[in-house]
Amino acid sequence: MRQSKMLVPTLKENPSDADIASHQLLVRAGYIRQLASGIYTLLPLGKRVLSKIEKVIREEMDRSGAQEMLLSALQPAELWQESGRWYTYGPELMRMNDRHNREFALGATHEEAMTSIIRDEIGSYKKLPMTLYQIQNKFRDEKRPRFGLLRGREFLMKDAYSFNESYESLDESYQMMFDAYCRIFERLGLNYRAVIADSGAMGGKETHEFMVLSDVGEDVIAYSDTSKYAANVEMAPVVQTYEKSAETPLEKEKVATPDQKTMQEVADYLDHGLDQGLKSIMFEVDDKYVLVVTRGDHEVNDVKVKNLYDAKVVELASEEDTKRLMGAGFGSLGPIDAPEEVEVVADHAVEAMVNITCGANDEGFHYKNVTPGNDFAPDRYADMRFIEEGDPSPDGKGIIQFARGIEVGHVFKLGSFYAENMGATFLDNSGKSQTMVMGSYGIGVSRTLAAMVEQFHDDQGIVWPNQVAPYQVHVLSLNPKKEEQRVLADKIYADLLAEGLEVLYDDRPERAGVKFADSDLIGIPVRIIVGKKAGEEIVEMKRRDSDSKEELSYDSVVEEIK
Ligand code: ATP
Ligand code: MG
Ligand code: MG
Ligand code: MG
Repeated sequence: MRQSKMLVPTLKENPSDADIASHQLLVRAGYIRQLASGIYTLLPLGKRVLSKIEKVIREEMDRSGAQEMLLSALQPAELWQESGRWYTYGPELMRMNDRHNREFALGATHEEAMTSIIRDEIGSYKKLPMTLYQIQNKFRDEKRPRFGLLRGREFLMKDAYSFNESYESLDESYQMMFDAYCRIFERLGLNYRAVIADSGAMGGKETHEFMVLSDVGEDVIAYSDTSKYAANVEMAPVVQTYEKSAETPLEKEKVATPDQKTMQEVADYLDHGLDQGLKSIMFEVDDKYVLVVTRGDHEVNDVKVKNLYDAKVVELASEEDTKRLMGAGFGSLGPIDAPEEVEVVADHAVEAMVNITCGANDEGFHYKNVTPGNDFAPDRYADMRFIEEGDPSPDGKGIIQFARGIEVGHVFKLGSFYAENMGATFLDNSGKSQTMVMGSYGIGVSRTLAAMVEQFHDDQGIVWPNQVAPYQVHVLSLNPKKEEQRVLADKIYADLLAEGLEVLYDDRPERAGVKFADSDLIGIPVRIIVGKKAGEEIVEMKRRDSDSKEELSYDSVVEEIK
């Protein structure tokens, strides 16, 4: 492609609204432009890189046996009402009405849409297991869209869903996706960790996040180079010991001042948890399990949680239900099947959570419905502490260190939550009707692009690895007004194209300094410079990731590059 004809609007200065390298460089090097907050246009260079990342993802999805589809972004509200998420997803879900005043949502994720297809089209165990995927734009009205492509309101996601006949089969599909994700992020050359994203307190290891290590990441992960253990700190408290207390602190329905120490423990636990970005906690009360969910900004470590929070209490019948709920969805807590839902806004999340968990009135805290014999949960958490840097890893094979990470992928064992709510059943091999078991698996494709720039750049610009670079070779004719430079550069451009290489040819009538600076910004792996020695048919070759240059004669250029 001739750069003189291409839409590559490079900028000398960093855009004022961009604080991190990927956002700055993608704008400056002419890959993206902002249309509105959290909404971006991918310019030709950006689109080329995105397509290459998609290609790697497609190849590995297809290799794992997953089938590609394309679902609509626009979805009728009824689907979301069936699963229950219409009522629980909150303001992140973009909703709208059509001209007949029917309600719709723009897909934030596609569990419902995919489940409805499978429910209608698959009825027998013979077709199971089945994994389907798509690469499509998602819409989320993020509270704080920021960092360019890292947190957009419209962004490209690869989302896959497995439909299984049993939990054992789900384990297998999950493992296949997990392995495919490892291959994808390895092929992209990213420094990443697959981390446990489940709360230790909730048990199970049914969800993993793929985190690219980067100081601009919004998550903190605990890992060790010598152990396989890696976890999202936010979700990975370590329960040291757990013993139920023999004492029963309070009686049923009795309004009383709680045991101060116990209350302090709850508060400390919540406080620490919220500092770490904890979003939910489960308590046992009166044979029921109560899930408390906070919503709001979760700054990790540096900013204390003090601002307005919503806290939600949901009573659930069983521990199993609660766990299922915790695992019910991509990024949201999914449908809440209990009708009783209390919304509280407080200026301190801890207070709100303690209040609504324990019950409170003007006289102060009190526990509601705590049956004698049945302990209240604080005891359960009394010995809990969060993992710290320098701790031995839980498997004893390494020492824990912390790092920031960008969540580029997430694999999730959903269980039968959606299938049950939406009636996705099948006949097993004895002709009995059974509910399907599901998994869901997402990769933020546009976020991955930005994460790659975070890992692959220097002070001058982007340094693409070959597998995703928008072009493989950048040919620069330093002064195209000089006949011999223009002719030689034209020849080299034609030769490289004939070899099947992807070539960007800077044939613009710009100063050499501008061309070098732009070439550094854009970050194509190999550069061929046609300059003063063009008359002798000698050019220079330089790799973007090294400072050294070498001279080449015209006839060896193709050989050197291919
Ligand atoms: P986050 O914790 O960053 O908000 P999430 O957990 O809500 O992400 P998932 O629901 O797990 O996201 O979606 C799957 C993947 O989609 C994520 O792992 C991430 O890579 C990507 N993703 C999610 N939200 C965004 C966004 N606003 N902009 C770009 N990519 C996103
Ligand atoms: Mg996630
Ligand atoms: Mg997340
Ligand atoms: Mg999110």
